[in-house]
Amino acid sequence: METPYKKLYDRLPATLQNLAVTAFSVLLDRQRYGGRFREFQALLEKSQWYDERQLEAYQNKQLQRIVAYAYQHVPYYRQVMDERGLKVADIATSADLHKLPVLTKDIIRTRFADLLSDEFDLKTVARGNTSGTTGSPLEVCYDEDMIRINYAMLDRQYRWADTRLGRSGDKVAVIRGNVIVPLNQSKPPYWRYNYLHRQMLLSSFHLSQDNLPAYVAELRKFNPRVLDGYPSTLYVLAKYLKNKGETLPLHAVLSSSETLYDFQRETIEESFACKVFDYFGAAERVLFATECDQHMGHHVCAEYGITELLDRDLKPVATGETGTLVATSLHNIAMPLIRYVTNDMSALKAEKCSCGRGLPLMEDVATKAEDSLTLKDGRIISPSVLTHPFKPLTTIEESQIIQESLDLVVVKLVPGKGFSEEHTDALVHGLQDRLGAGIEIRIEIVDELERSASGKFKWVISRVALGI
Ligand SMILES: [Zn+2]
Repeated sequence: METPYKKLYDRLPATLQNLAVTAFSVLLDRQRYGGRFREFQALLEKSQWYDERQLEAYQNKQLQRIVAYAYQHVPYYRQVMDERGLKVADIATSADLHKLPVLTKDIIRTRFADLLSDEFDLKTVARGNTSGTTGSPLEVCYDEDMIRINYAMLDRQYRWADTRLGRSGDKVAVIRGNVIVPLNQSKPPYWRYNYLHRQMLLSSFHLSQDNLPAYVAELRKFNPRVLDGYPSTLYVLAKYLKNKGETLPLHAVLSSSETLYDFQRETIEESFACKVFDYFGAAERVLFATECDQHMGHHVCAEYGITELLDRDLKPVATGETGTLVATSLHNIAMPLIRYVTNDMSALKAEKCSCGRGLPLMEDVATKAEDSLTLKDGRIISPSVLTHPFKPLTTIEESQIIQESLDLVVVKLVPGKGFSEEHTDALVHGLQDRLGAGIEIRIEIVDELERSASGKFKWVISRVALGI
């Protein structure tokens, strides 16, 4: 919502805010589910069963279209290709992509206008921001088809979880970054309703121990079939239920936008008595990966983009090896992103999924470069490794790990009942065992942890510059 509308919205009583949220969703409906949405939905239903060869054929056809368009309409690509003496026909398959340079965030910032197609106007084209949790937000433009295939992807992820999105779909409770409840509100309701989409939208910004009983009571009343949220917000709800010895059975939980740790998945699945389906969609709309009911990894949605996994020298890594995800959109012509370097790292899996789909499997995107710790000797420590020393310490309510420099890691803790200095010592020892003695670990006791403006929470934040 734009700022003036948001100000007006904030002054309305909650009942009228529910109507405003619903009215706004009519507009969103047209934007998301109009135009070619049905066509994309039908394509994705079919293409999920394509074999490798069919997927490749589809990718190459789309790539050729994007490259031809970019050369004709996007000044940046015309320049880049002319400088290299490349013709449109030289980039015919994904194997030719290496002939083009990678596209970094810096290039997008400095050449923004040159990356926009001459058929689109900056004043009217849809724009999106990546959350920029490390203080470097990035803006990217999208065309209507891009928005619609994105929702078709999400729609397919919901179908894989045996649920339906939208007007005639299932009742869904959403706990993500929607700022639908004014931040200074200190009494329930901490949720709003979108009657059109049968959605209950819960605020991620009011989740305190005092407010949790009201959240859970309202969830029980709404009785959703599905819960969709960030791993961290889902985990807060699940842990509260677990501590009370209660469950709130659902049909499925969908999680995305943050790394989902094993301990979070376990507690969420236990408290909501169903499976978690984790999906990953880069905000730059170049990459979408979703989990099927076999839960053997994330399927890379090959119809959406071409994904490369590269090392620091921009050479492809072998299957099974971790690399930086570099991806090419197969749909966005408003601002074609070709070989865009994400902050995310993952590895392709060698095995095929037992569901029979041809879409390749990828490991969890658990090692975002900015979410891992870097040691002086260059080792990168994945957050999953760091979860272990916390496991026996049930007196810690919440925690966050911040690497300030190569020499210093700060651990912020929200203590719970029975917390003592002994636990701090155990934690420091446990972390030191994993990180080595060359790095200081400082504990800070705090009342609450901060979320970013988008409501996302990062358990591990590294301020040590990394990446390519
Ligand atoms: Zn599968």
